[in-house]
Amino acid sequence: MNKISIIVPCYNEEESLPLFHLAVTKVMRQIAGIEYELLFIDDGSKDDTLQMIKRLAEMDEHVRYISFSRNFGKEAGMYAGLKEADGDYCVIMDADLQHPPALLPEMYRAVTEEGYDCCGGMRRGREGDGALRSFLSKSFYEVGRKLTHLEMDDGKGDFRMMSRKMVDAILELKEYHRYMKGLYSFVGFETKWIEYDNIQRGNGETKWNLKNLFSYAIEGIMSFSTMPLKAAGIVGLICFVCGIICFLTQQNLILSMVTFFSGMQMVFLYIIGAYLSKDYMENKKRPIYIVKERG
Ligand code: UDP
Ligand code: MG
Repeated sequence: MNKISIIVPCYNEEESLPLFHLAVTKVMRQIAGIEYELLFIDDGSKDDTLQMIKRLAEMDEHVRYISFSRNFGKEAGMYAGLKEADGDYCVIMDADLQHPPALLPEMYRAVTEEGYDCCGGMRRGREGDGALRSFLSKSFYEVGRKLTHLEMDDGKGDFRMMSRKMVDAILELKEYHRYMKGLYSFVGFETKWIEYDNIQRGNGETKWNLKNLFSYAIEGIMSFSTMPLKAAGIVGLICFVCGIICFLTQQNLILSMVTFFSGMQMVFLYIIGAYLSKDYMENKKRPIYIVKERG
């Protein structure tokens, strides 16, 4: 009998969890001939998420959990979930019901009967997500695709069911700075996409703000591309040539040139420094997450 592991990273989701549990359980019971587990990862929540998970675990033998010693972020939560899960298939879902459980049977069919190693939900549109956030996300994926040559798409997120083969391939990648959307694409495997309409969060609020979305975007690009370093070199060369031309044509632009060049150097130093600091962190080989308790 096939086993499906449902991995749910949770940060302050006490309100969403009962509804989530109910909705997912209903759907899982409809899939014939399977076993399943619900693996909740409490990512150092500050509310009663852990208590709520424990209550669910007492009620339902399908529920397992890990609780982190502090907030490590959703990427760490997903990694921990994939590592702890023992299902033949793993699916990652948000706790806020923005990932419709109704797609699970079709995903399961795709990975068992249709020969895919991965089947993901693809969000159609971003209604209600705010114009600025929608615009920035879209632009990020466009730039990201060009810089990294990996398949990245605004609507294609972490909600996907994967075969054991694909999960093991992802677990082989042990880097500390994890950017899952890049990792899925890096390991390859054929993926089927099922579209669904954007759903507003049921309870609680989003854990993202513009500041951490921005660092997430930088993280994504830097983990998969050294293009910014090359771009810095090219811009530097162009500025250098401009400087020579200005000098030869005896333009009196000294002050603006000085400002321009020092600004540019600061940008380059920032880029080089940013890559060095990544390497520095990777070399420490720190654990991606630390478990406080499990059940
Ligand atoms: N999450 C997490 N750790 C964090 C932030 C978020 O485990 O530090 C979880 C959160 O509980 C949810 C999922 O990641 O289950 C997606 O988060 P959210 O709904 O806030 O993101 P959005 O849907 O707005 O992108
Ligand atoms: Mg959400």
